[in-house]
Amino acid sequence: MNSIDSLTTPTDCAGWQSLAQQLGFEGRAYVNGQYQWAVSSETFVCLSPIDGRELTSVASCDVADAELAVDAARKAFESGIWSQLAPADRKAVLLRFAELIEKHGDELALLETLDMGKPVSHARTVDVPATVRAIRWTAEAIDKVYGELAATPYNQIGMISREPVGVVAAIVPWNFPMIMASWKIAPALATGNSVILKPSEKSPLTAIRLAALATEAGIPPGVFNVLPGYGHTVGKALALHMDVDCLVFTGSTNVAKQLMIYAGQSNMKRVYLEAGGKSPNIVFANAPDLKKAAAEAATAIAFNQGEVCTAGSRLLVEESIRVEFVGLIREALKTWRPGHPLDPATTCGAIVDQAQLDRIIEYIGVGQSEGARLVEGGGRMMEETGGLYVQPAVFDGVRNDMRIASEEIFGPVLSVIGFTTAEEAIAIANDSIFGLAAAVWTSDLNTAHKVARALRAGSVWINHYDGGDMTAPFGGFKQSGNGRDKSLHAFDKYTELKATWLMLE
Ligand code: NAD
Repeated sequence: MNSIDSLTTPTDCAGWQSLAQQLGFEGRAYVNGQYQWAVSSETFVCLSPIDGRELTSVASCDVADAELAVDAARKAFESGIWSQLAPADRKAVLLRFAELIEKHGDELALLETLDMGKPVSHARTVDVPATVRAIRWTAEAIDKVYGELAATPYNQIGMISREPVGVVAAIVPWNFPMIMASWKIAPALATGNSVILKPSEKSPLTAIRLAALATEAGIPPGVFNVLPGYGHTVGKALALHMDVDCLVFTGSTNVAKQLMIYAGQSNMKRVYLEAGGKSPNIVFANAPDLKKAAAEAATAIAFNQGEVCTAGSRLLVEESIRVEFVGLIREALKTWRPGHPLDPATTCGAIVDQAQLDRIIEYIGVGQSEGARLVEGGGRMMEETGGLYVQPAVFDGVRNDMRIASEEIFGPVLSVIGFTTAEEAIAIANDSIFGLAAAVWTSDLNTAHKVARALRAGSVWINHYDGGDMTAPFGGFKQSGNGRDKSLHAFDKYTELKATWLMLE
């Protein structure tokens, strides 16, 4: 494949198109330090949602490939080549890995955009830097975390240490393929585990490319493997495998539940799940700046085509400003019209595939039949390109028990729900099977803290939407999952705690 260094990042659509012409695609799995086709030789075709073009054939891995990868991962782990390396040495390799990702930033951004349809400007300025930051931050942390000494009697020593859990399988979704992968592989590798990454069948290309960069950075063969393929084949094989110690997942709540069953049916592997969301964005009439709140509410539903787990898909607005606020949102959404993803001016790209587009269009129909008022967008756009585009949609007059308010759509469809008191807003916000994130907009400090405290969600934002960085843990309450990505808390998932007790003579 042709690798591209980021020397001069294109500044217009023609520049990105020309870079796309030079791009080669790798579709093979990566096992034990080598690219290889699936044992069965089965492949699937990777189509671009931008215009329907065929990008490449990708290895369709299955049980046999999972066997090979787990075997390689286990052998590498047992050899100690990575698992027993000094943390500072693992850090140095991971920092090189981050540097290589940065160096190939244009190539990786382009792969991400062609594969799943997001605007290249976002892939380049959000996905690539966030991936680099996740790996760099975690690498920098790993030689600064210490074990503990227990509060023992004078003649005893109780040492509490952390050991890598062993072989980790990471199954990730397609909406932020590299970022979601980096939140798993960075702490898993930093703590000394061997990893098998299974990207989504809808967006496998950057994960496959990362494998070669990891080897170039110095990660030994077998320590980082990538198995593209379907969930019901290779994903299931990894989840049921008796020699996978830990399964980390980001994806839908339904699949997350299935993975818990697989763990119970096999070796009780540790299972950590980042699942779906239906996040409430609560705007009080005394919000400090309604225009800013509306602009961020629009971003919260339209960024990444609404294919975001923390999308602010339920907008709870105090009744006294609801009509005005819906007007402001509609105005703000004008800057989120879909456009060609390789045009750097585009803010809203293509929907990942036909099935996801059909799902979004179906929910828009469901909202109308449930009696909600479609006040903005919702139609397909740019069909002549052969690509998959939809205009962000706003429903007003939504009740929280409607399907468009209770089910995760995973597209740019906003439900506006009115409320009159803070208590009512809290009750509506918490009336959900999900608990991933929430936001509250008010200039009253007391209301802000009271509401934030009452919200059952892993992240709460006050007077902004979607804040946080690598220093803060990320994950969900309720059926949005368990365990946390990012921050030092992420290390909990990839390590076993050991108590070693010594009696002095
Ligand atoms: P998905 O659950 O359909 O698939 C996720 C991954 O699981 C894919 O790699 C898929 O191949 C695999 N998979 C599917 N069935 C499987 C099975 N039976 N066994 C093993 N693996 C299987 O989700 P998706 O459509 O790729 O992504 C969208 C979902 O991801 C949304 O629900 C979204 O909220 C969620 N998500 C959550 C977070 C978070 O941090 N909480 C972040 C991003 C996305």
